[in-house]
Amino acid sequence: MSAHYDAVIVGAGFGGMGAAIQLTRLGYDNLLILERESDLGGTWHVNHYPGLAVDIPSATYSYSFEPNPNWSRLFAPGHELKRYAEHVADKYRLRQYMRFNTVVTGAVWDTDHWVISRRDDTTVTAKYLLTATGFLSQPKKPDIDGIDTFRGKIIHTADWDDGYDLTGQRVAVIGTGATAVQLIPEVAKVAAELTVYQRTPIWVSPKLDFPVPPAVRRAFAALPLTQRIARFAGTAVLELLMVSGVLHYKQLRAANRIGELWCRAHLRRQVRDPELRRKLTPGYSFGCKRPTFSNDYYRAFTRDHVNLETTSITWIDESGIDTADGRRHDIDVLVLATGFDLWEANFPAFEVIGRGGRSLGKWWRDNRFQAYEGVTIPKFPNFISLNSPYSYSGLSYFTTIETQMRHIDRLFTAMRRRGATEFEVTQEANDAFLDRMTEKLGDSVFVLGQCATANSYYFNPHGEATLLRPSSTVNAFREAGSFPLDDYVLT
Ligand code: NAP
Repeated sequence: MSAHYDAVIVGAGFGGMGAAIQLTRLGYDNLLILERESDLGGTWHVNHYPGLAVDIPSATYSYSFEPNPNWSRLFAPGHELKRYAEHVADKYRLRQYMRFNTVVTGAVWDTDHWVISRRDDTTVTAKYLLTATGFLSQPKKPDIDGIDTFRGKIIHTADWDDGYDLTGQRVAVIGTGATAVQLIPEVAKVAAELTVYQRTPIWVSPKLDFPVPPAVRRAFAALPLTQRIARFAGTAVLELLMVSGVLHYKQLRAANRIGELWCRAHLRRQVRDPELRRKLTPGYSFGCKRPTFSNDYYRAFTRDHVNLETTSITWIDESGIDTADGRRHDIDVLVLATGFDLWEANFPAFEVIGRGGRSLGKWWRDNRFQAYEGVTIPKFPNFISLNSPYSYSGLSYFTTIETQMRHIDRLFTAMRRRGATEFEVTQEANDAFLDRMTEKLGDSVFVLGQCATANSYYFNPHGEATLLRPSSTVNAFREAGSFPLDDYVLT
């Protein structure tokens, strides 16, 4: 017989832990958190490539109810995020619910509960199912001819080999996304030769980063209000950037232009060679892709042993890479900074079958990618999908997490008050939300800007930018605490 739980949460990253904290606050303690990886922390457990750091100010990139006065820098290095995740798990006693190295392969709604299957062919059942499987969790290996014949070392940034030394090696990096922006300057410091294969350039802003002085850390610890003010300031700046430069592009085109000019000036300051500058300048509007921050990325390309290659790769053989113009680079190490398979692998991360046999993945593909308030879907009772279309609100993932915790709080409190144990969002509420988001998206850079050449993962396979919620984080947070309860059938 399957073990039965009040709730099964899939994913032990910050999203899954936030959901678990919320459920324990609501009085649920018969929980199970299933995690594919060998430890908690999600992205911050999996990623440990050189240069890894958060690119949102740390006072903001953390739970508001669990401030950490010990961040060493304004933008903390990755290992501090992992330590913070461990601290949260310990403090909120979440480890007791976690099972690692457990891959969930599917979930089926059966009359009044979920049946969750695991790769080891065992099942568990639960009244509620919450998925917090992340967006950036399935590394993408590029489909380049001959890549499997390469005899040297291949490393994906999401599977970094800490024991492998790049010193003195001829290294190629494929990809110039946010990960590559952090990694490339570090590789350039040690490699004998570095060739970066760029398909699409990225807008890079200066990073106003500095160590947090011990006196400030002590002040944060003694007077938490001071850190709350720092958090508020960080959130406000990010929100301004997002709302004015990206979401309200129609009304505030100049703000978007300022973002672009700011990055262009940064590039001009760091790169004197006009040809190199031209290659590094994106041909799409600022904000079509997630903006990134670095003080040493552009400069790395000015070093003699670093080459920027913009001709497309035709072939990889056992010892090097050929490009379409007939040139070739022999290399020892191939680093894949090629990001993640977002839409195919994560929407949803495993097969979810709801009421009447509806398959979530098929339904999203046959219709449009959608979820009410970015969390629930009609015909999927007692299911909270934390990484859904329109779920990501603002630039810091923690804004999203806490908004969703609030939604869970309101929904489950209402159920308890009405003596209900089952919820399902109505089709009408879902449709109205989708219409509203579609209309708001019409003002954004994604619809009105030049995003065609951005290759941005914000866009789903239907060509709609449905990853981010096109409203302010304030609006999302307010709605999470005040959505009409009639939008759900509670039984
Ligand atoms: P990404 O933004 O998807 O970038 C992948 C890169 O690989 C792109 O430049 C892409 O080119 C290139 N690429 C993929 N397949 C290719 C192929 N077959 N041939 C040539 N080039 C190929 O992935 P990422 O850099 O890992 O970043 C993903 C996200 O992670 C970021 O947007 C950010 O949200 C997050 N992140 C956050 C932090 C942080 O500090 N918080 C740090 C790193 C990453 P195209 O653009 O042409 O597809």
